Amino acid sequence: MSKKNKPPRPEPETLALPRLGVDSHAHVDLADFDADREEIMDRALACGVARTGNVFLGPEAYLKNRHFFAHRPEVFFLLGIHPGEADQHSPQAQEAMRQAFQADPRLKAVGEIGLDYYWDTHPHDLQERVFRAQLALALELGLPPVIHCRDAFDDTLRVLVDAGYSGRRLLWHCFGGDDNQARTLLDHGWTLSIPGPVSYGANEALRRAVAVIPLERMLIETDSPYLSAEPWRGKRNHPALVGFTARCVAEVKQLPVEDVWAATGENARTFFNLEDI
Ligand SMILES: [Zn+2]
Repeated sequence: MSKKNKPPRPEPETLALPRLGVDSHAHVDLADFDADREEIMDRALACGVARTGNVFLGPEAYLKNRHFFAHRPEVFFLLGIHPGEADQHSPQAQEAMRQAFQADPRLKAVGEIGLDYYWDTHPHDLQERVFRAQLALALELGLPPVIHCRDAFDDTLRVLVDAGYSGRRLLWHCFGGDDNQARTLLDHGWTLSIPGPVSYGANEALRRAVAVIPLERMLIETDSPYLSAEPWRGKRNHPALVGFTARCVAEVKQLPVEDVWAATGENARTFFNLEDI
């Protein structure tokens, strides 16, 4: 079939979702959005995304880019050093993060932090030290951690349990595992955030996991600009597209999309302790 005959992808506006949803995890401060950041955030609101969690990858990015959202009260902040940048961690960076969290009430969680053995850019012992230091910071601040885990499930679990996080408020970002892994995380009392790849044809295992995750323990996210849900797979992701992830979750759970939208939005407000705006 020629490209010309392909039907156009439906725009997120066609989902007609009320302004109750939350994108729990996006990187709208990245340069990918320099040309149209304002339009992208206006569009999220127009598509029913009431709040967006912007994840700053380290204290420098936070200090440099937070002004993008000075006039955007719908954006709340996360801040942490990603395992792919573990060598950016230092006592000075840890102290810069502590000061940022103490000064800025818009910072709601320590993340994304964790272990990444897929890209495996840093030695595992370094990744683990940096992860543990930031878990300790989250505990000290009384804020939840948001976990990045790629091909490192057993070690991530070991560190979290060892650090005393079983039964504590914790979000497992971009969950991509199967139903057994989901049950393990649920047993520890944690919340799981479901990304766009749940909609990909080959991801039957993740859909089986979504089927066993109670709606009240679930958030949804874009991880913009990465990992767009169908029908936007392969294109730049942005917060307005999180509605397609809600639609896929709703199909799996055989619920109206509006129910998934409102429930995951409310869960995010509770999890991140978001004030009304
Ligand atoms: Zn991320």
